[in-house]
Amino acid sequence: MKSRTKVVVIGGGIAGCSTLYHLTQEGWSDVVLVERNELTSGTTWHSAAQVTNFGMNQTMVGLKSHSIRLYKELADDPDYPINYHHGDGGIRLANTEAQMHGYRHFASMARGMDVQFEVIDAEECARRHPLISTENLIGGLWDPMDGDIDPAQLCQALARRARKAGAEVYRNTPVIGLKQHADDTWTVLTEKGDIDCDIVVNAGGYRVNEVGAMMGVHHPVASMEHQYFLTEEIPAIRDAGHRMPLLRCPISDYYCRQEKNGLLLGFYEQDCKTWGMDGIDPNFVNALCPDDLDRVTDVLEGAFARMPALMEVGVHTVVNGPITYTIDGAPLVGPIPGKRNAFCVIGLRAGLGEGGGHGWLLAQQIVHGEACYDTWCLDPRRFTGHANVELTALKAIEDYQNEFRFHFPHEHRPAGRPAKTTPLTPVLAAEGAEFTVVNGWERVDYIKPSPDFAPTHSFDFDETFDLVAAEVANVQTNVGLAEVNGFNRIEITGADRHAFLDRMFCGPVTKRDGRVALGYLLNHHGMVKAEATVANLPASDRGPARVWYGSAAASEFHDMDWLTRHLRSDEDVQLRSLTNDQTILILAGPKARDVLGACARGDWSAEAFPWLGVRECFIGIAPATVMGVSFSGELAYEIHVPNASLYAAYLALRQAGEAYGLKLFGARAVESMRMEKSFLHWKADLITEFDPFETGLDRFVRLDKGDFIGRDALLQRQAEGPRRKLVALQVQTDQGPAHPGASLMRGNEVIGTITSGEWGHRIGQNLAHAFVDPGLADVGSEMELDRCGERVSAVVTAPSPYDPDFGRIKS
Ligand SMILES: Cc1cc2nc3c(=O)[nH]c(=O)nc-3n(C[C@H](O)[C@H](O)[C@H](O)COP(=O)(O)OP(=O)(O)OC[C@H]3O[C@@H](n4cnc5c(N)ncnc54)[C@H](O)[C@@H]3O)c2cc1C
Repeated sequence: MKSRTKVVVIGGGIAGCSTLYHLTQEGWSDVVLVERNELTSGTTWHSAAQVTNFGMNQTMVGLKSHSIRLYKELADDPDYPINYHHGDGGIRLANTEAQMHGYRHFASMARGMDVQFEVIDAEECARRHPLISTENLIGGLWDPMDGDIDPAQLCQALARRARKAGAEVYRNTPVIGLKQHADDTWTVLTEKGDIDCDIVVNAGGYRVNEVGAMMGVHHPVASMEHQYFLTEEIPAIRDAGHRMPLLRCPISDYYCRQEKNGLLLGFYEQDCKTWGMDGIDPNFVNALCPDDLDRVTDVLEGAFARMPALMEVGVHTVVNGPITYTIDGAPLVGPIPGKRNAFCVIGLRAGLGEGGGHGWLLAQQIVHGEACYDTWCLDPRRFTGHANVELTALKAIEDYQNEFRFHFPHEHRPAGRPAKTTPLTPVLAAEGAEFTVVNGWERVDYIKPSPDFAPTHSFDFDETFDLVAAEVANVQTNVGLAEVNGFNRIEITGADRHAFLDRMFCGPVTKRDGRVALGYLLNHHGMVKAEATVANLPASDRGPARVWYGSAAASEFHDMDWLTRHLRSDEDVQLRSLTNDQTILILAGPKARDVLGACARGDWSAEAFPWLGVRECFIGIAPATVMGVSFSGELAYEIHVPNASLYAAYLALRQAGEAYGLKLFGARAVESMRMEKSFLHWKADLITEFDPFETGLDRFVRLDKGDFIGRDALLQRQAEGPRRKLVALQVQTDQGPAHPGASLMRGNEVIGTITSGEWGHRIGQNLAHAFVDPGLADVGSEMELDRCGERVSAVVTAPSPYDPDFGRIKS
């Protein structure tokens, strides 16, 4: 066994084997996998091992298609062929028009990743799958590449190829401890000796938190028991002359695929169970949980009704095993929060289908610092302080119970809520607020007209349309008040703070006291990594001279990680998170200055406190820091208040606002207004797949300012020219918004992808942002949007269609 290597991957299921193989593909051969028992002896060996292209966003679709391509290549390897039923086809069933509508959106989104789904009616479903009845069926989504693979053979094939490329695999070698050294390298302690390495990867499957505990972290991953059974031979299958397509059923919560000449039927029962919450028997190896078919009788009834042939055959094997879930159902693949040189590929609930792709994207991140797709939807840092085991278990149960029921736009399911609140949450709830969830925070979405108001889940505009219009109208004509909680805020002190930030940002960093500026941080490939405001506060009785670095709520761990990673030991810079201590109240609208002046002493005139100013003050009796910034396009102030004083500040603003028509507004109104200003959203419009020039951020880049992270790569990219350009679009329909991921077409060619879309209530237009082919980025370029299967015209417009001169913001 080696005593020193570059990377140690812990765990020899699909996650570990795929990561090991892909590390060698990215050029690192001095890598090792350690497995406590035999390869695949965790969950992988008994997986139903279905492999589909279906995913909720383009990153998931892209990584799944990578799996399919890779598995086909492995299956066709004459030296070591493996069993892969590639391209049997699969149908995701639907019995509501709303589900069909969603499938049409997913087909549009997948087309942009070169994946061709088909939305078919009930008769066509039955034609392709002769065993099913069309009762209570409208149709389904067809994935022609769906199939299943032998999981053990797959892992052996990946390990074999990795070994051939120089990697080593140590079986029956339990990891018993992990030690990190001052230089951030690791020692992996195993029962067979220690291995020093630069980087460790946790691929421990359901033992993820045993491995996590060795490095002092707890991962938000919980296991559920999950069952399937295999039937005896079904004559209709034996005699069909072709393999049966796979089925996934959101109506009765089961999946089904052919196994030999019978069927494999898997269940997502409502009466489900977590597993291993209080520890896992060390001898649970190559093992299963006890059968419990009583739990799944409700699901079985639905499956029998759909496939009557099932009732005529016996069950010959039941499999019940642990399967891992995270808080949002997507795995955790990437850097481990709060650690250096530590990665994970965990929480895989469809690991056989996805594992090829996860290992691919993780190996790229380890070797190159970033993957070819934006991996935020998988990033372990997307959950922050709220991500504990109790919340994870509740969300795991909810997700399991809804396995095939996708989330509609704006749908936030109830389990584990509220996770993060401020003192205002109950106050706003009493005012009729409906909440959305941002990084666990309950944030006002809109104000309900009545307590029982419940809009339809839909990909079209819903019953909130007029409510949002009214909130926007009040902001436009009077003044509105909104709470923005969880906004990421890092206080940066020390003499070198500006020099440090200058290195991190690709544009100028203002040093002027009392000023705020927006800027962008790039990664080493010159791509957009983060967006932040920098506010310079002079020394005061509240602290020394300092910068407040502000960015999106979800970026709390991500941005802190990126900033601390680049701190130099000889720099006088200190970083402190204020994210959970302070909340923002937004005061927006032409009468915002009047309201502010009525409850805060001082001169708030445009001359004394212009746009992009920052000042400490009191709102009534509440200490506050006010910034003159606007995401709405109206005159607006961000009022940052310590949570202990939040209610006091709120009362003062409401009281002062009475004379000016102040009303509450929520996140939906903000979304509408920011689209009219062409303001961008982190991880919607701002992603690591594009550089700042492609993203239209030219005015925030100063290539001549000296060195900054990503500069060299950006210069090279600039010379090569853009691959796509971010544009503002007007979409010609009032049926519904353009949804992120939807494809823009010219004829049958995909020429762009939507990143954001919402109705602009002040200008009465349906607006979107999209990355499009550079040749089509000019104002006036026409194209078609595939909006849930319907082709609608879209035209490139000039940015900031509302108040393009910014007169209202600066007024
Ligand atoms: C019944 C069932 C059906 C399923 N069907 C499908 C399906 O149809 N399609 C699909 O895509 N997915 C399916 N899944 C899910 C899929 O099987 C899993 O997502 C996948 O196998 C997880 O792989 P893994 O590598 O993360 O974990 P595992 O396979 O559990 O591998 C983790 C490995 O880490 C090792 N390990 C743990 N601790 C240590 C340590 N301290 N030292 C060294 N090694 C350690 C373990 O021994 C184990 O081998 C199914 C799961 C179940 C239970």
